[in-house]
Amino acid sequence: MRLSVADILARFHEACLERCGDSMRPEERKALQSILLCRTPAMGGRSYRCSHCERDHFAWHSCNHRICPRCGAAEAREWVAGRLRERLPVAHYMVTFTLPSQLRELCRCDAASFLKLFYACSSQAIKDVLGERRHLGGECGFVGFLQTWTQELELHPHIHYVVPAVALDAKGKVRFPRDPRWLASGNVFAARLKTLLLEAMKREGLVPSCGFDALWRKGWNCDVRNFGEGANALKYLGGYARRGPISDSRILEVRGGTVAMSVRNRDAGVLETRRIEGAEFVRRYLQHALPQGFHSVRYYGFLHPRAKAKLAAVREQLGARLAARSDEPETPESPVPMLCPRCRKPMEMVAKLSRAPPWERSIPKIWARRDRRAAA
Ligand SMILES: [Zn+2]
Ligand SMILES: [Zn+2]
Repeated sequence: MRLSVADILARFHEACLERCGDSMRPEERKALQSILLCRTPAMGGRSYRCSHCERDHFAWHSCNHRICPRCGAAEAREWVAGRLRERLPVAHYMVTFTLPSQLRELCRCDAASFLKLFYACSSQAIKDVLGERRHLGGECGFVGFLQTWTQELELHPHIHYVVPAVALDAKGKVRFPRDPRWLASGNVFAARLKTLLLEAMKREGLVPSCGFDALWRKGWNCDVRNFGEGANALKYLGGYARRGPISDSRILEVRGGTVAMSVRNRDAGVLETRRIEGAEFVRRYLQHALPQGFHSVRYYGFLHPRAKAKLAAVREQLGARLAARSDEPETPESPVPMLCPRCRKPMEMVAKLSRAPPWERSIPKIWARRDRRAAA
């Protein structure tokens, strides 16, 4: 049987809670709760009446949780359209920093402070390297996307930065790389991140169990890729920024308590099938819930929202106008009327229904309601 990601979470979350509920972080519980309640009466919503077939219909609110597989698609499309419109007419690079495996445990037990440090140090590494005269020699602007997963949903924190190859020097003049096909070597970025992050961790008292020496001796990893005009990089990363780590299309089958998913083997360039237990799927999925209030997408340099004047200076010198808005779908002035699911005629809203109180939205209550429905 083929099921969606949301169905799998609903079906196997009890088994997962039984096995590892005690070690679940609060943000993982919160994510699970939101996903289970998404578009159910407990979320509140609106009731509509169709005057044609004289029936009531309900539209329940969505949870809008960042890793809810049902939410966020429309927002992601809008975000991508906005970024594409603002794109600068220069070459774009994707700079990807990956953490050494020894540091992953810190992401699990102290995610909020460790990931904040990872973001701060990797963005500083880009500023430092590109600020050097032999590279760009000025202030650059870029967008970062934190992803914490592999294709098999294992924990693997990495940050992708989309970097337009242009900088603003101290005199306010734009500067470009000497060779337009080349930004800087990944090893240079990686070495800078290693120094910044290990020193910051020492300062903050975040000690990895392997000790610092092993991490100093190791070569760190950073990948730099030319992405042409940058549209593909933004579409790919923007799609994930507001959605969970796996899409429904990668779920192949659910059978006998296991989930089969398709995984791209990048070396061989082929799709392979991986089968894991349902409870393990839920555990892996939920571990990608970020601490509350943590921003997974961040803006730096002249692309930071507080640096509008600098961005305007870059734009003016590049002669870049904002791309016409006509290629994006128009936002309607008045809300689109709800159509009756039976006769497709517009319906009238008759009531707003409020959300259930917090104690009614706990996981045991969700189970109790479901059990009552099953018994009825
Ligand atoms: Zn109707
Ligand atoms: Zn949702």
